[in-house]
Amino acid sequence: MDSTTDSQKTAQNAECSGNCDSCSSTQKTAPQKGLPPKVRLDVKHVILVLSGKGGVGKSTVAVNLATALANHGKNTGLLDLDIHGPSIPKMLGIEKEHPAVLAQCIQPVMVMPNLAVMSMAFLLPDTSTPVVWRGPMKMGAIQQFLAEVNWGALDYLVVDLPPGTGDEVLSIAQLAPNVRGAVIVTTPQDVAVLDATKAIEFIKKMDLPVIGVVENMSGMVCPHCHEVLDLFGRGGGEKAAKKFGVPFLGAIPLDPAMVASGDAGKPFITADPESPTAKAVEAVMEKVLAIAEKDA
Ligand code: ADP
Repeated sequence: MDSTTDSQKTAQNAECSGNCDSCSSTQKTAPQKGLPPKVRLDVKHVILVLSGKGGVGKSTVAVNLATALANHGKNTGLLDLDIHGPSIPKMLGIEKEHPAVLAQCIQPVMVMPNLAVMSMAFLLPDTSTPVVWRGPMKMGAIQQFLAEVNWGALDYLVVDLPPGTGDEVLSIAQLAPNVRGAVIVTTPQDVAVLDATKAIEFIKKMDLPVIGVVENMSGMVCPHCHEVLDLFGRGGGEKAAKKFGVPFLGAIPLDPAMVASGDAGKPFITADPESPTAKAVEAVMEKVLAIAEKDA
């Protein structure tokens, strides 16, 4: 993956798609009463990736899901809205990139010819600067990420949200068109599953579909004896999915190689595509794709 070359090429060659608010061609769809207008964005499917608590692998799932969609030839955007802990650029090895501005549109960073990435992290002076923003400021930033970034024509926009049920989820649900629903990521232990069930209820309350539940860190294959160790137990995510009558998208094992690839800035499914863990991620992606396109 040659991120620098691709992003430079894009910054030089890109023409404004007309998505931005700065373009005179920009129109917004009529607002529903009391709600902000939807941003005009050329996207077929917006997929939200959400978790009840932090550290369960939500960003890892978002990165690998977006990469898998791009590998399948889909024009994909990955929007990192984890404003308080944006980790996507680090996971993709693009944390030193600065998006260019062309024709008053922000150019996303291209990590593949058909995978565009935008993150709050690109706009922060350094990674240790905390963002202290109130709800309306977050909504303004999210509006900008949708309206003023030159995403082009997207098949999928995968949105990595902060853990929990805060302003960002409400804002993206209100502003983005064609939101197909949310993928909820959990780990199997009771406390994580409890938080995941809150996230499911929240999404349902917003009248958005739950695309399904992913159980991450579900068992670990011991690198020495190859026995499966149930570090956090197994099956909690599947039980939660059953309880709410939503699809179970699959279980991804805990794999030390996944930490290494995240730290090295490579999506795991690209770094080690033949491993059982990468196959599990692929299986999740296939299900998301089938559900999103069926309900479109
Ligand atoms: P979240 O977005 O939920 O806070 P992250 O995706 O940032 O979680 O993951 C937290 C850490 O766990 C990262 O170091 C990541 O590489 C690691 N991780 C995520 N999923 C797995 C997995 N299946 N196996 C091993 N490590 C994982």
